[in-house]
Amino acid sequence: MTIAGSDSGGGAGIQADMRTFALLGVHACVAVTAVTVQNTTGVTGFQEISPDIVAAQMRSVVPDIEVSAVKTGMLASDPIITAIAETAPDLGIGRDADVPLVVDPVCASMHGDALLATEALGALKELLFPLATVVTPNLDEVRLLTGIDVVDAASQRQAAVALHALGPQWALVKGGHLRGSDLSPDLLYDGDSFLEFPARRIDTAHDHGAGDTLAAAITAALAHGYPLPDAIAFAKSWVTRGLAAAYPLGAGHGPVNPLW
Ligand code: PLP
Repeated sequence: MTIAGSDSGGGAGIQADMRTFALLGVHACVAVTAVTVQNTTGVTGFQEISPDIVAAQMRSVVPDIEVSAVKTGMLASDPIITAIAETAPDLGIGRDADVPLVVDPVCASMHGDALLATEALGALKELLFPLATVVTPNLDEVRLLTGIDVVDAASQRQAAVALHALGPQWALVKGGHLRGSDLSPDLLYDGDSFLEFPARRIDTAHDHGAGDTLAAAITAALAHGYPLPDAIAFAKSWVTRGLAAAYPLGAGHGPVNPLW
């Protein structure tokens, strides 16, 4: 299941999640949190779905379809995050429950358009992170969540420790936005040891939806029963391949293009 926002351009959000789930042999069900107005050049507006309807979508689907893994993407507001965090435990979703929860703390688009209200950062950290099996911030999100500016391997470790202290079982600090390196290492921390996932940096303007696709591929692999580190290794190679095959679309940034 994906709990996320719709991208009218079809590159990121729910559309990227559903594409990834389908390509990886997983049935996608959805709780829509917001409908964005966007194309390849940016987001020009969005309408939130009422928190009750977000929670009701979860309550309708999870017991019926026997959901095996859940991810969150764009959550838009504090009341939506609160509704999800109140509903998830009842449905057996979360790090200490049966259904793993991947929290991709989406804050803004690559163009800098806000996808989460600033005042909702507290709810994300205090209510949702403690339920997460893994959180998957990029470096901009790490800065917003922890105040740490990741510039090298040492600050990436420091950020992973700070994120883990917020309560998730694992913290993944994605290195994709780390400039000045040929590699794009992601760092995973479980409170005890660090695991590094190196990958070749793919230089492309067409990387729209890369973060969503990574989190969706992790979720699909968890649904297939992979242990988390294996799910991340798989998802990382999936996105790297998707970046290498990305194509221009519209006047802005085209989408990652995994496997087709
Ligand atoms: N739109 C929606 C609905 C999203 O969920 C996301 C990312 O999570 C984006 C846009 C941003 O995608 P990008 O970072 O590729 O601009």
